[in-house]
Amino acid sequence: MRRTVFNEDHEAFRETLRAFIEAEVVPVHDAWFAAGQVPREFYRRLAGLGLFGINVPEEYGGAGLDSHTFEAVQYEETARAGVSFGGSGVHVLLGLPYLKSLATDEQKRRFLPRFVTGEDMWAIAMTEPGTGSDLAGMRSTARLSEDGTHYVLNGAKTFITGGVHADRVIVCARTAAPTSGDRRHGISLLAVDTRSEGYSVGRKLDKLGLRTSDTAELAFTDVKVPVEDLLGEENRGFHYLGANLPSERWGIAFNAYAQAAAAVRFTQEYVRERTVFGRTVADFQNTKFELAACKAEVDAAQAVADRALEALDAGELTAAEAAGAKLFCTEAAHRVIDRCLQLHGGYGYMNEYPIARLYADNRVNRIYGGTSEVMKMIIAKDMGL
Ligand SMILES: Cc1cc2nc3c(=O)[nH]c(=O)nc-3n(C[C@H](O)[C@H](O)[C@H](O)COP(=O)(O)OP(=O)(O)OC[C@H]3O[C@@H](n4cnc5c(N)ncnc54)[C@H](O)[C@@H]3O)c2cc1C
Repeated sequence: MRRTVFNEDHEAFRETLRAFIEAEVVPVHDAWFAAGQVPREFYRRLAGLGLFGINVPEEYGGAGLDSHTFEAVQYEETARAGVSFGGSGVHVLLGLPYLKSLATDEQKRRFLPRFVTGEDMWAIAMTEPGTGSDLAGMRSTARLSEDGTHYVLNGAKTFITGGVHADRVIVCARTAAPTSGDRRHGISLLAVDTRSEGYSVGRKLDKLGLRTSDTAELAFTDVKVPVEDLLGEENRGFHYLGANLPSERWGIAFNAYAQAAAAVRFTQEYVRERTVFGRTVADFQNTKFELAACKAEVDAAQAVADRALEALDAGELTAAEAAGAKLFCTEAAHRVIDRCLQLHGGYGYMNEYPIARLYADNRVNRIYGGTSEVMKMIIAKDMGL
């Protein structure tokens, strides 16, 4: 089916990005994989390509657009090449919507120019060792000082993507206790400078997949956060998370579809070359049926991911729709990539083959940004159940 999401500008961007990936990422990606992260300087290269400023207003150094379509191209091109840009996706997909919707003019002047150039990389810290799905249960606290000039932040976060390299982290913490009628009340968002005293980065976590992204534990001990770094209003953090999670979930859905599409392409190439019992694997009827079924699932996921992108760019994507898109695309991608790996036989289990890395990378899509079970809860609630 003809796609309607990309225009000539997006296709020109795709060409530039593809050439950049071939020249500057593919040759070094194995070294990044072994090191468990991309070098910090690489983010300056991405900034140089204009990747961080696309949706930033021109007055702060960006291109002034308001569309996730260029991010969609990036997902397709990185998956196609079997590479990843480390934790930088979080900087744009997760960090920027909060800055655009919540930062005051003064904060935008301070934060956005350095965001665009990659001088400051951003991450967001919601999850804690004791709570992930149930965010209202978070325990980190930010107590306003007596003179009202700063918050005193204490607590710990875990699984924070980009946590090693981040210069600023949007930390979700309790500034007030929950009320008896609303346990979501009392959470606030603070744009914490990671160079602050008392802020520490713990372990870089050893993950099954996403090997090039720096996922870390963070700890806060009496970190002084100036009141000027509060994002939005005090105690309304949960409401802001609810407003911004749909774009994060769309990004995960689209990335999952793109990974599944890449898996089918890698597998088509592989089965044509591999010979078993004197025939290519592609010659077996089972292989044709498996790949045909995978292709149909990828096409369906692409239609959902594209439609969700259009709705997101139009400002119409609801929380339940975003949850539905994430649930469908990530579950479909999981099925497809598993079947594609099976067609590779033992080689599919070896990290030197892109299908193995895709399998491991894709697994987390059903977990982070809210698990599949949490997506079902959101959809069911919207159905009045
Ligand atoms: C690689 C990676 C990167 C991440 N990056 C970030 C990041 O940058 N920032 C950030 O804040 N967080 C991040 N996370 C955290 C992620 O969002 C959480 O892991 C996720 O929301 C699940 O929380 P949890 O791990 O605490 O699981 P839990 O909440 O402990 O869930 C355990 C199981 O219980 C199920 N469950 C929970 N509640 C219910 C229910 N009511 N009904 C039925 N089943 C239920 C879950 O679906 C799951 O199967 C990341 C995680 C990973 C793995």
